[in-house]
Amino acid sequence: MAAKVLDGKAMAHRVREGLRARIAASAGLGRPIRLDAVIASADRAAHLYSESQARQCVDVGIEYHLHRLPADAAFDDVAGRVLLLNQDEAVCAIMVHLPMPAGVDAERVQGLIDPDKDVEGVNPANIGRVVYGRRSLVPCTALASLEMIESTGIPLRGASCVVVGASNIVGKPLAVLLMREEATVHSTNKFTRELPALCARADVVVAAAGVAGLVTREWIKPGAVVIDVGINRVTADDGKPRTVGDVAPGVAEVAGWLSPVPGGVGPMTVAMLLRNTVDACLGRP
Ligand code: NAD
Repeated sequence: MAAKVLDGKAMAHRVREGLRARIAASAGLGRPIRLDAVIASADRAAHLYSESQARQCVDVGIEYHLHRLPADAAFDDVAGRVLLLNQDEAVCAIMVHLPMPAGVDAERVQGLIDPDKDVEGVNPANIGRVVYGRRSLVPCTALASLEMIESTGIPLRGASCVVVGASNIVGKPLAVLLMREEATVHSTNKFTRELPALCARADVVVAAAGVAGLVTREWIKPGAVVIDVGINRVTADDGKPRTVGDVAPGVAEVAGWLSPVPGGVGPMTVAMLLRNTVDACLGRP
């Protein structure tokens, strides 16, 4: 049996349609929906990402304001800009592009973002709210993964879920979000013993380790939901570079549902950033 594909592009398209409608309906409120992003880097990938963000924002009706700081900016420069944006009443959604300049502590900067404007959910206050189940802005990739799991219709209460990888921004918040749904969750990392056996009993496996092809078909219970978060650049057999996930190709023959790479969690992550932005500006519907 071939797994059903969790088409992240199609899901993201539907999210954007919904956002366009919400933004259009808010036109009379006189409050522009805007995302303010701070960049202090010469990193090409960060600039490409911000350009792609700008296009996606404009496409749904979100104003995109990019605040460019020098690539050698000091902590006080970056922090000062974030604090100014916090105070500006016209600003409702803030994010800070990584990497930060050498010597600038990114976590300290993220911790300064007003939690109500923190659309990437990177301020520890928002992670705390996730733990307590309160209304909050949730890290976008964790949210994207949860949305994709829920789209399968699998009842999460009592389901056995394994999250492979426990970073602050993906694995940990996702494990907590699944706990909030009353799933039984194993948060795992590179030191976890007998990981394949643990996964083989799971109804849901999320691969977020950053290791190409880590999760193989032997790890997967027939019919399980498998979410591939990994983005790994590898050299293919033809010598050309390719982007692959953490899930090996054979898994598609065993799983019930599988999110592909590319075209799975990636596009949904950007859609969740847009949705967090609209939620921060308009409030949750
Ligand atoms: P990270 O490096 O911060 O954390 C990796 C985690 O995986 C750690 O907890 C580590 O212990 C664990 N791990 C590493 N090797 C392992 C192994 N062999 N077995 C079990 N666990 C192992 O990574 P991150 O920032 O969470 O990113 C993880 C992957 O997700 C990367 O490929 C990254 O590019 C991708 N990513 C994708 C999106 C997206 O939008 N699709 C967003 C963020 C990250």
